[in-house]
Amino acid sequence: MVCAYSDSKMSTLAHTRIKMYRTVARQLHGVVPCWVCGKHVSLEDATLEHIQPRSEGGSSHQENLAISHAVCNHQRHAQQPA
Ligand SMILES: [Zn+2]
Repeated sequence: MVCAYSDSKMSTLAHTRIKMYRTVARQLHGVVPCWVCGKHVSLEDATLEHIQPRSEGGSSHQENLAISHAVCNHQRHAQQPA
C-alpha cells in the first residue's frame, strides 16, 4: 500500500463515486437509494460509504463501497443518538 498520494487517492474515490452512481442509476432507472436511509440520493449529495470501515481493514474497492447521503454518512460516523 502506498500512502503518499492522498490527493490522487481522493480523486480516484471521487471518480469511483460518479461511476458507481451512474451504474446504480442505470440499473434502477434513475433511482439511487441511500445505503443508510434508503431514500433517493442526488449526485451532488452522494458520498461513498465504506461498508466495512477502513480502520477495520475494509478496502476501497467497489464491493466494499455503497452510496449514501453526505448527511447520513456523517451521522453514521459520528454515532450520535438520534
Ligand atoms: Zn440517506
